[in-house]
Amino acid sequence: MSILVVGSVAFDTLETPSGKRGRVLGGAATHFALAASFFTDVRVVGVVGDDFLPEHEAVLTSKGVDTAGIERAEGKSFHWTGSYVKDLNSAETLATDLNVFAAFEPKIPSSYLDSEFLFLANIDPVLQSRVRAQMPHVKMVAGDTMNYWIGAHRDDLLKVLRELDILLINDAEVRMLSGEPNGLRGAESVMAMGPKTLVVKHGEYGSTAYFSSRSFNESATRKPFRTPTMPLGEVVDPTGAGDSFAGGFYGYIASQPTVTPDVFRKAMFYGSVMGSFAVEAFGTERLQRTTRSEIDERFEHLKEISHL
Ligand code: AMP
Repeated sequence: MSILVVGSVAFDTLETPSGKRGRVLGGAATHFALAASFFTDVRVVGVVGDDFLPEHEAVLTSKGVDTAGIERAEGKSFHWTGSYVKDLNSAETLATDLNVFAAFEPKIPSSYLDSEFLFLANIDPVLQSRVRAQMPHVKMVAGDTMNYWIGAHRDDLLKVLRELDILLINDAEVRMLSGEPNGLRGAESVMAMGPKTLVVKHGEYGSTAYFSSRSFNESATRKPFRTPTMPLGEVVDPTGAGDSFAGGFYGYIASQPTVTPDVFRKAMFYGSVMGSFAVEAFGTERLQRTTRSEIDERFEHLKEISHL
């Protein structure tokens, strides 16, 4: 099974309580692809500039990620500057230099058209809709968004939500989208906008999946399911935690023959595991050296600490 992910491939300048790093490889599609690559084939659609060198591409290709859909444009790659100095749980955007991303028009290589799973990472919802329309035969569509699109491009975003099987967002985004301070009622209100299933990320406190009658083919339980996160001694850089969660979660789903409630629950755990690696070093450093046995160990550890 293959996942096609469309989203940012970027350089990030980061400041956290653990230190500073300038222009490390990042971007939502990058973090997602690296995390998902442990579970399934991943294909990336994005755009980069002439500062994206073979060594950056090798970070993805060395994990088997297909980069044929990463377009080269004249100019510099997208550059995001963020700080977590005030609050490790929420990124403060200091600068967003769109560069070549400003004119991004996703082009899907013909070799990607047979992808069974589509992940619409956090980009302009108009572009998300265009990509969705070009992939009419996918088995499943999942997506992400952020406060900027919820606030300033709500109508475009509402169109995308109607197309989603799974939406993955954080608590603040649920509150903003629904206008509802209560988490459960907020989740119900967001699902009424279209997504069959909603995964809400609570930062260091875990994630919750909310199901609707359209989540599974069978008459499965619709009780929400919550996964914890790995207790970690130090969070070095939270950038990409959400995208790595999404990569582990969706990668595992794509690797399974059908999506049952049990598969969904395990996928939530794998998402949590991949998010835990992402935050242990700056940028993609930790995901690059993660091994399959470490993933399995953390999966077992999460099971142990959350089992009654
Ligand atoms: P997260 O998983 O939410 O921490 O995502 C972090 C990644 O999102 C960083 O590597 C950034 O390069 C990327 N990013 C930040 N702002 C934007 C934006 N406006 N559009 C697309 N990607 C972004």
